[in-house]
Amino acid sequence: MSDLTEPPKLNPAQQQVTDDLGAKREERPSFRDDLREHLRHEIEETIGPVLTDIAELPMFVSKHDLSTLHSCEARYVAERNIDFAWTVPMARGSVAHKAIELLVTWRGEPVPLELVDEAMARLVASERGVGVFIHSLTEAERAELAGRANDFVATFLDTFPPLNRRWVPVAESRVRAELCEDQLALQGRVDLSLGRPDGNVAGKVLIDFKTGRPSVAHIEDLRFYALLETLKVGVPPRLLVNYYLEAGEPRREEVTEDLLWSAAKRLVDAVGKLIELDARTPRSPTTSPGPACRWCPAAGTCDDGRRYLARADEADEADGVLPH
Ligand code: SF4
Repeated sequence: MSDLTEPPKLNPAQQQVTDDLGAKREERPSFRDDLREHLRHEIEETIGPVLTDIAELPMFVSKHDLSTLHSCEARYVAERNIDFAWTVPMARGSVAHKAIELLVTWRGEPVPLELVDEAMARLVASERGVGVFIHSLTEAERAELAGRANDFVATFLDTFPPLNRRWVPVAESRVRAELCEDQLALQGRVDLSLGRPDGNVAGKVLIDFKTGRPSVAHIEDLRFYALLETLKVGVPPRLLVNYYLEAGEPRREEVTEDLLWSAAKRLVDAVGKLIELDARTPRSPTTSPGPACRWCPAAGTCDDGRRYLARADEADEADGVLPH
């Protein structure tokens, strides 16, 4: 990332991203050697003794588990008990991510629709997850999905600087940490990483591409990835970036040791909840009504959620806003 001022010529939006993400070596933070061991020790000390309460081990924890558990425990349990169903709006993010992944090693002039078509073809060929959904679409639905994904990819190409191989770009980079004698697996996949550490000097930038509006959960997701990267490599990433594809806008956060300890605490809290909910004698999940009730699978049967939504709809009507 130190050569971000090299050609090709950048437009003002690309230059802004370049300035936001780049840093000279002397400006980069360095971290102590034993940080990884301390983080690992603290997490294992708290979680290890209670993991034995769980009937099914190892336990797998993702960023989605953490954010849902911290949002509403009852929603977490409800989501776990239903079959996941893809929709076109959800699939557009996956297609756009895949297209940007292809872009990293694409030779020649990248054309957004070609990248999108190729991304959809490769997802379908995988015969898994969103690929099965895309395969089931009618021609009109497929065209709508391609159009929406194309919008994101074109925005990315317009606003993000062309990826220089010397930045060590890695798309869909998997991060995983095994703790508590491999009984707890933390896992995630970063949309794009750039750079790498130099000794104890941080150099990696973790980037997640987001659709929709910025939220605190997006920040917490990247902090979780920063923790995983530290547990894996021993040196934390330098910078965390949520890149909002609709606005073409990066929101960045510098990584500090305090940030990593806060991510570790949030992880321990969430895993503690998971253990209580999954224990041989589980406790009942609590409810935390909020905006997420709108798309919660338990909304039809959850009294707290229904009361919240009724009040929110009344408030919207009073303000002249149509409920969505
Ligand atoms: S409807 Fe709301 S309060 Fe109820 S489980 Fe879902 S998110 Fe939680």
